Amino acid sequence: MIDLRSDTVTKPSPEMREVIAKAAVGDDVYGEDPSVNLLEEESARLLGKEAGLFIPSGTMGNLAAMLTHCERGSEIILGDKAHTFLYEVGGIAALGGIQAHILPNQQDGTLGLEDIRKAIRMDDIHDPPTRLITLENTHNRCGGVALTGEYTRQVGEIAKEHQLKFHLDGARIFNAAAALKVNPAELVEPADSVMFCLSKGLGAPVGSVLCGEAAFIKRTRKTRKMLGGGMRQAGMIAAAGLYALEKNLPLLIQDHQRAADLARGLGGIEGLTLEHEKPPTNMVYINLARELLLNAEETALKLKDKGVLVGITGERQFRMVVHIWINDQDVEKVIQAFKDVLS
Ligand SMILES: *Cc1c(COP(=O)(O)O)cnc(C)c1O
Repeated sequence: MIDLRSDTVTKPSPEMREVIAKAAVGDDVYGEDPSVNLLEEESARLLGKEAGLFIPSGTMGNLAAMLTHCERGSEIILGDKAHTFLYEVGGIAALGGIQAHILPNQQDGTLGLEDIRKAIRMDDIHDPPTRLITLENTHNRCGGVALTGEYTRQVGEIAKEHQLKFHLDGARIFNAAAALKVNPAELVEPADSVMFCLSKGLGAPVGSVLCGEAAFIKRTRKTRKMLGGGMRQAGMIAAAGLYALEKNLPLLIQDHQRAADLARGLGGIEGLTLEHEKPPTNMVYINLARELLLNAEETALKLKDKGVLVGITGERQFRMVVHIWINDQDVEKVIQAFKDVLS
């Protein structure tokens, strides 16, 4: 099977499994797991932050950051297509008593700067106080677009002006940096906290890392424990994360090139239209023309018969995510499978 449903399907390579088997471990709740400590230091170094915190999932990373930044009854400004708003089971509301103040995501994944300014509430007796602004980079539901350092800096300035905190859902921040050809630290510099996933394009089996100032990370370590995310000999998985940062991070750009190849091939097929002429990073969103008799679900079933798995993101829309286990031949096979199914 050629599995393009997500970059989360990436299984550890034999080399990574070897690293896992040999990992030095200790009790991380006591702060004694050398592999976890190293991963946290290395992550913070890569992102230019003081400290890092290894977290079981991206969802818990975002949640722990938000619970630490915000008190009950406060408000977070975030996009209506944000992963945190759409796909994190309402955790900030259910567990934090925090209200989401959603703003429309523009096609390029940004929130309008004027929209953000207008959304900030503070002094009126009726208002829940705004505490946090959140952005997502790359922006999943906006096609995997990368937000620029310049835009992020402008949002950071608004946050500072109003004494708000600024969190970045950087599940795929290294894809953004690779696409924009910038240092990832530059992209996250304006943010107080940033979460990234090891378990997606980086190809590690489990885990995310949250980075920020040392004092914030110290408080969030406690929040993580409260959520049940304190782990023991987590070096077994942290070692995979370290391997991923060293060996797999430089390969992300190849995923982007293959996504471009895939888009070029699919864009030439009658009845298919691309969301983005050139995919911004590793995702290809594609729409099925109304004239076609098949909808996305029926097409996906037929593709499955041909050995290709795709994500369904709408009545007539697919998402395909290119990752470390997809090679050039796979891209060719996927294009051919679409031709066969739609002809
Ligand atoms: C995957 C993802 C998350 C959550 O990560 P999990 O490890 O799946 O919980 C958060 N934000 C974005 C943008 C993601 O793509």
